[in-house]
Amino acid sequence: MDEKPLFTTSEIDDLNGQFELAAPEELLRWSYETFGQDVALGTGFGSSGVVLLHMVHAENLPLTVFCLDTNLLFNETYALWKQIEIRYGMNIESVAADLSLSEQAKIYGNTLWKTDPDTCCTIRKVKPLQRYLSGKKAWISGIRQLQSPLRKETRKVEWDPVNRVLKLNPLADWSDERIRSVISRHNIPYNPLHDEGYPSIGCVPCTVAAANPEDERSGRWVHFEKTECGIHLPVLNRS
Ligand code: SF4
Repeated sequence: MDEKPLFTTSEIDDLNGQFELAAPEELLRWSYETFGQDVALGTGFGSSGVVLLHMVHAENLPLTVFCLDTNLLFNETYALWKQIEIRYGMNIESVAADLSLSEQAKIYGNTLWKTDPDTCCTIRKVKPLQRYLSGKKAWISGIRQLQSPLRKETRKVEWDPVNRVLKLNPLADWSDERIRSVISRHNIPYNPLHDEGYPSIGCVPCTVAAANPEDERSGRWVHFEKTECGIHLPVLNRS
């Protein structure tokens, strides 16, 4: 029997009303007080993510934190992962795909990210997240409205229909400038690739620097229409 809570549209509207003008830290605190170990913060160590991790530490919240490790992240990202764990004294869980890269290559070929990136993302990100969240009631992400046109209607509190959990986006209405300002003011560690022209940073085969980025998703899957890996899409495709 499914014991997960289902949130109605009006309950989610009420929560958005409650947190509309609240600081992100209030939503983070509410998430822990409401769900305890059944809520987890997912991060890929982007700019918004490191700000959230700083807030979790500053608020002394023992929230569970995880990263979807595709085994294809940049060395700079793995180094930042370690740096954040040391600076904030937190353990960030690694959530791996069911298939190793060599197992994936045997079935789909050596470069699935070139031939079928949607399937690659499903194997290495979407399915691992589903498996991980099957034991949770809510998750927290760093996505923001200004990151891309597809994300512009992101709300602070949403229902994730695929994972059947509440999805919380505490920085949904934050500007790029505000993120940069907090990182600078608190000397928060961030991915050095941002200073080399990478607006956002995912897997090595699917991320490049962008000279004139249209938005924060520029430089991802540049030879495809794709701009999302799929972990946020169930919520972004609002119907
Ligand atoms: S971002 Fe690229 S390499 Fe990473 S899981 Fe998706 S398709 Fe595969």
